[in-house]
Amino acid sequence: MPNPKRRMSKSRRDKRRAHYKPATPTLSVCPQCGAVKLPHRACPECGYYNGRKILSKL
Ligand SMILES: [Zn+2]
Repeated sequence: MPNPKRRMSKSRRDKRRAHYKPATPTLSVCPQCGAVKLPHRACPECGYYNGRKILSKL
């Protein structure tokens, strides 16, 4: 079985992980209320999607 010959230093490990970062979420603007929302999702502010009311506030 192939195996690493030496333990990777904390410095090397952390330098590799320095490039791990969360992707910036794509944002779109709701045509109904103008709030910033996720694309292809009903608007959490007004509950509209594709010109129709989908969500009702509790
Ligand atoms: Zn909206």
